[in-house]
Amino acid sequence: MPLYDYRCEVCGHRFTARHGFNDPAPACPACAATEVKRVILAAPTFAQGMLTLAGDSRRASKEQLQDKWAEETPKLRKKLVDKLGEDVVNRSAPTLNKKYD
Ligand SMILES: [Zn+2]
Repeated sequence: MPLYDYRCEVCGHRFTARHGFNDPAPACPACAATEVKRVILAAPTFAQGMLTLAGDSRRASKEQLQDKWAEETPKLRKKLVDKLGEDVVNRSAPTLNKKYD
């Protein structure tokens, strides 16, 4: 039997119920009201999943960027120091001295 999502019109409680397609909507388990609305969750859940995934990938890529930054910065800094000298780098690119732990 399929699982349906409902929202209680009276108390706003969200719940899921498993029942046949033609069966009547169940009463709200929180307040026993029968004014419950089936929530079509396919799209919102999908969108929410996408958002969650996007959030995760944002976090992951931020960490990756930070790793990359931590890895590349000393190299870049060294290149600049070789080219321009320690003083110039310290003066014009102080962020390159920033360390990520
Ligand atoms: Zn309710």
